[in-house]
Amino acid sequence: MGVEQIGAGAVHSTPIFLVGIGATSPPIPGATDSMLVIGMQHGEETAAREAAIRFIRDLAYTTDPETVAYLATHPVFVIPTSNSNRIGSVVRNNFADVDLNRDHLTLSQSETRAMADAMRRIKPTIVVDLHENNGTGVTVQLGHPTQAQAAAQVKTAAQTLRAGVESYITSIGCTIGSYSADTTPEILRQTGSLRHCLTILSETDRTGITTQQRVEYMQGVLTGVRKHHGANAAAIASAISAGKAAKRAEGAAGTTAFAVSATKTLNPPPVAYWLTQAQRDTVAYHLTSFDIEATPDAGGYLVSMAQDAQPAIPFLLDDNSDFNIVSAERRYPAVPEPEPGDLIAPTSAVSYGPVRVNGVDCEVTSVHLRTAGTFTPVWEKSA
Ligand SMILES: [Zn+2]
Repeated sequence: MGVEQIGAGAVHSTPIFLVGIGATSPPIPGATDSMLVIGMQHGEETAAREAAIRFIRDLAYTTDPETVAYLATHPVFVIPTSNSNRIGSVVRNNFADVDLNRDHLTLSQSETRAMADAMRRIKPTIVVDLHENNGTGVTVQLGHPTQAQAAAQVKTAAQTLRAGVESYITSIGCTIGSYSADTTPEILRQTGSLRHCLTILSETDRTGITTQQRVEYMQGVLTGVRKHHGANAAAIASAISAGKAAKRAEGAAGTTAFAVSATKTLNPPPVAYWLTQAQRDTVAYHLTSFDIEATPDAGGYLVSMAQDAQPAIPFLLDDNSDFNIVSAERRYPAVPEPEPGDLIAPTSAVSYGPVRVNGVDCEVTSVHLRTAGTFTPVWEKSA
């Protein structure tokens, strides 16, 4: 087990701690297939902190063979009090009055930077975000990532995780509901999926249950996540790796529309963004945080969409995003102008294609010669 301070509240210097529990002491961030628990982004949702601390204690002292086996290959990292300024104050936003769970793209606050830095270092497979609400009529509402640009494989695996957790917490007496389908990309459960993490949101209803149950049901969610991860680690890892590969390919092809806000879609999307040196300096923290590679290019920097971070890039760099840090120049594939002499008289002995049109490989089935608006067939694919 290891404990380290990873940041402090935005106004006072109240420390934000990260605890790691695993087979090595301390567990090595980024080296393994891990889960990260984030507690109390909202200061009045106090059971999150309590459940996270109890989860740490239970894992640290466990003798349960299943849990010990899990921890041998899957360290668990916990940030019990992400909104550290608000311990005891029972206020939702941080001391600068920012809702931390609406700041995971912009990363304007020291608390959200502490969480983002931890995510970048740990590279967790699963991120659990613990909250509480009121009057839902069920004891626990769960949410999975639904952001349009997150990899489908990651979203599907996260939905399966959610189903596994639902099944477990039902067995300990919880009643289940679904949290709102807010797809804004700066909420942790959405931003985390843009980072290719399986995210799960847990909202425990404070009304009608005891203080003890508020904490126990949340601990049940954490245990459910741990059990599902332990039983499905290989499938989850391959879903994430397939999701990354799909997004790299999508970024390279530049043919799949990218919904960069609720009302604006890039269609076709750029295959890269070009940044001036000044823009790159302005967005340097975010590029590092999201593992976005920028290569020097003509006095500025080129950010290719053909990289793992593809789902996050336009949100940070495109003028049409509600959360962009800079407005970089969109780059599209160059379309070469035909030159005289390009057309070589075709014969039936050759075959053509595929030809790339707007990034899609198209089969060539016939070639026509256009002369003053008249098309003359000169070649057809043999049957
Ligand atoms: Zn909350």
